[in-house]
Amino acid sequence: MAKLKTLEDYREEIEQCVKCGACRAHCPVFGAEKHEGRVARGKVALAGALLEGEIGLEEKLLFDLSQCLLCGSCCAQCPNKVPTEEIVAAARREISRQKGLSTFAKGMTTVLKNQGLMNRLAKTGGVLSSVLFKKLPENSGLRLRFPAPFIDQNRTLPPITGKPFRERYPERIEGQPGQPTVAFFTGCGINYMYPDIGEAFLRAMRFLGVTVVIPAEQGCCGLPAVSAGATEVVEELADRNLKALTAQPFDCIVTACASCNAGLGKIYADLEGDYAALAAKTRDVFAFLVEQGLPARLAELPRATERILVTYHDPCHLRTRGITYEPREILKNLPQVDFVEMAAAGTCCGLGGTYSVYHYETSKKIGAKKAGHVVDSGAEIVATDCPGCIMQLQDSLNHAGAKVRVKHILDLLLEALPPSP
Ligand code: SF4
Ligand code: SF4
Repeated sequence: MAKLKTLEDYREEIEQCVKCGACRAHCPVFGAEKHEGRVARGKVALAGALLEGEIGLEEKLLFDLSQCLLCGSCCAQCPNKVPTEEIVAAARREISRQKGLSTFAKGMTTVLKNQGLMNRLAKTGGVLSSVLFKKLPENSGLRLRFPAPFIDQNRTLPPITGKPFRERYPERIEGQPGQPTVAFFTGCGINYMYPDIGEAFLRAMRFLGVTVVIPAEQGCCGLPAVSAGATEVVEELADRNLKALTAQPFDCIVTACASCNAGLGKIYADLEGDYAALAAKTRDVFAFLVEQGLPARLAELPRATERILVTYHDPCHLRTRGITYEPREILKNLPQVDFVEMAAAGTCCGLGGTYSVYHYETSKKIGAKKAGHVVDSGAEIVATDCPGCIMQLQDSLNHAGAKVRVKHILDLLLEALPPSP
């Protein structure tokens, strides 16, 4: 049985915060709100006080600890490498242990745990799409027609697919002899909202002759439940994924979603049991494609005469794991792409899992800054490697009135690859 760390397990790390304030300049929430309570050192101090029993579960504590994207930017700049995002997540788990989950977290985690319910909701959402949503111009997403709990009516949403990605394919798609076998961990975003990213993933693997296993019993990685402090749900989902992913042999697990990559590769690495081996086998799709020599194959393709200027947004869940070179390496070698780096490509887009549900106004302010950097780069497309970031970037660009499109790099790769034999 999987077991997450408790707040007590972070006692040493909490004590390592020397309150120097070096994290202030790098916290997107502080940047948007300019409030000391939003900075990492304030949250670490609150987590410490909670651990020592010096404060109760007052509204202010709950609010301040909910004001964190878990983006990890502070830790990367901290001289003592205090893992604030892990400490805040552990403090949220401690709060829900004492107080229970919030109404939203209860509802969300009930759905996350129940694959059958998720499938039914997706199918209903797909069928009722034109009733529930209105289309935005330029094919840049949907908005709710009617007020709904926890979703701002001005928020851009992706369409929900009537047929989840994992129901479209067999569990094993054979490649060429001598090539690796990968387990594709699709995550919920690709399965229910962006199945085209999954289709592009399969095309890339076919191009390289890679065998793909898509375990039907896989579920959510659990990261939204980490953000909500739902300990048992994270542990239950980790158990389920361990069982599903180890049912067939493979060389590595490949993700095309930064959050799933962090869920399997980082959160699972800290669980007791066989999870560390699973985490060690987890690769981001572009890290895998670079390992397989795809950039050189792309460089051999004839250069397109009609070219598009593309910039890249680093999802926090890849940037903090050191995966910044590989997505750019693929982009730069695409025959139809001219690459331009934007300012602050590595700052958070403002989504932060459940953060943008609880704090949409601050999330929008952070997203507006990012949209400004995208627009200033002059790019026609901002590419990234995370369905969650795609949703947030599109929302931010729509609010900014910008015509820049948002795509997963795999969608651009699909356009570049020759037609399937
Ligand atoms: S979290 Fe790190 S950077 Fe921030 S105040 Fe504490 S020691 Fe300094
Ligand atoms: S994890 Fe991100 S949002 Fe949270 S305190 Fe650190 S920099 Fe700020």
